Formats: sequence, C-alpha cells, structure tokens
Amino acid sequence: MGKKKTRGELVVLSGPSGVGKSTVIAELLSVRKDIYFSVSFTTRKPRMGEADGVNYNFVTREEFEGMIQRGELLEYAEYVGNYYGTSLKVIQDKLDAGIDVLLDIEVQGAAKVRSKCPQAVLIFIIPPSFEELSRRLHRRATDQEEVIQGRLAKAREEYGQIPQYDYMVVNDKVSEAAGEILAILTAESCRTRNRLHLIADVAGSSSISQ
Ligand code: 5GP
Repeated sequence: MGKKKTRGELVVLSGPSGVGKSTVIAELLSVRKDIYFSVSFTTRKPRMGEADGVNYNFVTREEFEGMIQRGELLEYAEYVGNYYGTSLKVIQDKLDAGIDVLLDIEVQGAAKVRSKCPQAVLIFIIPPSFEELSRRLHRRATDQEEVIQGRLAKAREEYGQIPQYDYMVVNDKVSEAAGEILAILTAESCRTRNRLHLIADVAGSSSISQ
C-alpha cells in the first residue's frame, strides 16, 4: 500500500472587492508552488494587463451558456452583469491526481461548491475594518465615487454569507494573511481523513472505514 495522498484538497477563497485577495493569493502561490490555481471562465472583458488563459479564460455569453447547458462547470455565478465559472473537468483531474486546488470565487459560487463538495475548505478574507476597506477602495483612485459606494454595498451583502465559511483571514499585512492561510492548509492536511493512507499498511487497519 502506497503512502501517497489519494485526493487533493479543494480550497475556496472569497473576499470583498478591494480586500487585496489577488496579492494574498500571489504571495501564497509563491510559497506553495504545488497548489494549482484555477483559471476561471468569464464573459467580462479583459482589463489592462490581463491575458487570456492566465487571469481568466475570456469567452462570449453564448460560449458560457453552452458550457452551462453541457454541465461543464463545477459552479458559476452572475456577478455585476457578467458570468464567472469554474471548469469541472480541470478541477476533477487535479484533485484526482492528489493536487490541491485553489479557487478565487465570490459567495454564490462558494455556496455551490459547499453543496457539491462538502469537504472543500472555505476561507473568507476580510480587511482589518470596514473603514479600511473604504480607504483602500478610494486609494485605488480608478473608480468613481458611485462605483466605490456600489462595491461597499456589495461587500456588506457578502459579509452576510461569512457564517457559511470555515475560516476568516484578516488581511492587514499581506505576509501575515498568507501565513494564516498556510497554517489553515497545514491543519487541513493533518486531518485524520486526509492521513488514513499513512496507516493503511499497519495490521488491522484494513478495517478502518474511510
Ligand atoms: P473580477 O471581475 O474583479 O476579476 O472578479 C469579480 C468577482 O468574481 C470576484 O469576487 C471573484 O472572486 C469572482 N470570480 C472569479 N472567478 C469566478 C468563478 O469562476 N466563479 C465565481 N462564482 N466567481 C468568480
């Protein structure tokens, strides 16, 4: 009997616009190069500096609706007028190969993942305070006040979904937020259900139910 972990961990990260999620994710992935970051499909237009297949797979509404109809998405949601979704096959292949997968998705998608994959680990990233989130959104200086107020209202709505998450990480300092996520991943990997393969060759353990 081998000692290899049989299935990867599915990790979901959510957080309000402006919380600094992508910076935390970049920091995390620079430390844990073995994690596969899922590139979502979206119908929104690429922003400056975004590349197809890197930040997102950019598709048309028809293409996206085709994927929904063919059941090719693990989850999808409509967010501020655009579709966003996660490929089912890509995720399944990685998890089956024992590779941990990270999803950066909003709260409706996270709820769908929770119902389809109860063992997924759901992490919500918050700013140190709501006032700080407002300051960060204003500091970007790229958006009109109306857009900023819209994002804050959306954030307030998203906070209502936090109780469905397993963990909350505070992004005050990026390195500390990434450190908290690393600690969560370490703890999750030590769960008994994720370590039964380590004792599979011990006499009597064949009766252990997984
Ligand atoms: P943005 O347009 O700023 O890149 O992303 C907007 C929101 O969509 C973010 O909250 C992001 O986490 C979420 N998002 C990105 N990809 C997916 C996805 O595949 N599924 C869902 N449900 N949300 C996603």
